[in-house]
Amino acid sequence: VDVTVVGAGVSGLTTANVFQCAGHRVSVVADRPGMEACSGAAGAIWLPYHLEEGSRKARRALHSYSILRDLAETTPEAGVDMLYTCEAVDAVGRPWWADHVVDAQEVDFAGIRGEARREWALIAPRIEPAIYVPWLESQLGRPIEWRTVASFDELPGDLVVNCAGMGALSLAGDEALTPVFGQTVIVEPGTLSLGSVLSDERTPPAIWYAIPRRSEVVLGGCRTEVEPGWENREDEALTAAILERTGVAGFVPGKVLRVRTGIRPLLPEPRVEREGRIVHNYGHGGSGFALSWGCAQAALDLAGG
Ligand SMILES: Cc1cc2nc3c(=O)[nH]c(=O)nc-3n(C[C@H](O)[C@H](O)[C@H](O)COP(=O)(O)OP(=O)(O)OC[C@H]3O[C@@H](n4cnc5c(N)ncnc54)[C@H](O)[C@@H]3O)c2cc1C
Repeated sequence: VDVTVVGAGVSGLTTANVFQCAGHRVSVVADRPGMEACSGAAGAIWLPYHLEEGSRKARRALHSYSILRDLAETTPEAGVDMLYTCEAVDAVGRPWWADHVVDAQEVDFAGIRGEARREWALIAPRIEPAIYVPWLESQLGRPIEWRTVASFDELPGDLVVNCAGMGALSLAGDEALTPVFGQTVIVEPGTLSLGSVLSDERTPPAIWYAIPRRSEVVLGGCRTEVEPGWENREDEALTAAILERTGVAGFVPGKVLRVRTGIRPLLPEPRVEREGRIVHNYGHGGSGFALSWGCAQAALDLAGG
């Protein structure tokens, strides 16, 4: 089957790879490289803390976990590493996901509220977008066609997969798609560890996380719902607040290397649905990497395998 995928972010590139592996002839069309879209702004980490046991989202996330884990073990050039990961949460007790991930364990983590408490940690895949997105591209059998798509009707192929992220607002006319602004400050490690991901999102809007990459640390962040067309640029007060929260969590970051902003394409649940010749796969919000392989597989299933 001839398949055209719209979008070269993590959703489009993963979907294109999954369709290609299933034997389809795949072309990708996009107006921007993934690194210039939302995918380039991500940390990016796989987190299980807010997944409901048995839900479709949880199944897709766990499928992605196993593929990302496999990449970390077999393909270092893909930019995925398994790291110790801990999020401060208000829930107590052994989480359901503890049986599905590597090395779930209770640890002490104070987060940014200061009080030490027992939390569940795990070993989770961390994906470095600047390595992973080009690696996904390099796996494609055909070069990406760089242009803006105005309508699905103009696209060739027996099947079109819509992985346009926020672009689905106009392409699919989906007004439920909400832009969510995110900002990170990328620093030299200072006293932050390159081996641990830490996150505390218990008191929005004052959320905080530290996601180490191979030689730098991504500090975040924010999840602010904005209007379509919002100007995607640095909020300097937020940069200062993120650095201050890092201090409250007990760390002294090194030199600020750069600030990155992005707009997450959010739906209550990603839309993986078929409409005639079109298969949609967009609306992953803050979990596009964590859900990527599971949603791509679901899109393939809708296409008939
Ligand atoms: C600060 C921040 C931190 C994040 N951290 C994480 C994390 O730790 N873990 C995680 O899993 N996720 C994280 N995310 C979320 C993740 O980045 C997104 O869910 C994901 O990147 C969405 O990918 P996408 O491919 O759907 O969209 P995008 O990356 O936005 O790609 C969309 C693609 O579609 C193309 N396109 C759109 N419209 C058209 C058109 N009309 N014609 C042609 N091409 C078009 C664009 O050019 C682009 O190539 C984070 C996001 C932000 C902003």
